[in-house]
Amino acid sequence: MHRLTLGDFELSIFSDGTYPLDGGAFFGVVPKVMWSRRLPADDKNYVMAGLNSLLVRTGKQTVLVETGMGNKLPERMIKFYGQPAKLLENLAAAGVGPEDIDIVINSHLHFDHCGWNTVRDKNGKIVPTFPRAKYYAPEGEWQYARRPSERDAISYISGNYDPLVESGRMTLLKGGEEIVPGISVKTFRGHTAHMQAVIIKGCHPEEPAVGDEGPGRAARSPSAPREDTNRASGAHPHTACYISDLIPTTAHIDITWGMSFDLYPLDTIESKKQYYARAIPEKWLTVFTHDPRTPWAYVEKDELGKMVARSA
Ligand SMILES: [Zn+2]
Repeated sequence: MHRLTLGDFELSIFSDGTYPLDGGAFFGVVPKVMWSRRLPADDKNYVMAGLNSLLVRTGKQTVLVETGMGNKLPERMIKFYGQPAKLLENLAAAGVGPEDIDIVINSHLHFDHCGWNTVRDKNGKIVPTFPRAKYYAPEGEWQYARRPSERDAISYISGNYDPLVESGRMTLLKGGEEIVPGISVKTFRGHTAHMQAVIIKGCHPEEPAVGDEGPGRAARSPSAPREDTNRASGAHPHTACYISDLIPTTAHIDITWGMSFDLYPLDTIESKKQYYARAIPEKWLTVFTHDPRTPWAYVEKDELGKMVARSA
């Protein structure tokens, strides 16, 4: 179970399962002799990919970031990807029912990120999986999803979002909005034109963050002990980012290790640089959507300038 506290927030990872993905497609132009050292391939060249959703309990709301692959895949896609469909049972095992979710956020609308937004009821009608939830997704993504290119049309399944938009359950975001206090979205172009990362800031402004220098640190109240004080400095992480398919796994942390699926590979590089320019010095916890083993870590630069993922 991956769980930690981020200021007043509690963060946990819930998986929709794992699925096979072609290693070449996953690592773009990176040669197999290099990527296979990080993620081993089977005899069909498949690697195992994860489907990590992030649950944030703010104290007021329960927020679910991303909803995995779901259970509505057409047969032709199940042949390639299977359909693990584990998210609801994994949430239930932790005592979280569909009616407990207040807010659902999708970083983009590819089928493996918003699959559990909806389910079919017993009459075959598509209904929201989370009956009380307000849903959010990038507006540009939704516009694009209505008329995708031939290249990526297979990635969009309208039942995952169109019924929610039509019924007014899904709010479309421009990028930059704060959805609830401490949880906001930011557009990172590259994987798609409008994909949005979800940035979570869970701490009081007067509390020191990991890496903070200065007098603020001494101001922390001894009467409010935190579970996560085992960090070397005694401070705690204050920002986490669900970076989604910009950096899908810890094996993709190098600037140039993008996926073949990326529609704008040069922008993926620029967006990663932009992300690291803040995330590394400010010691953000990065959440990896498709990493089957390491759903979150701190990305750091070693003495040689190489990116390394340090476990949380
Ligand atoms: Zn995607």
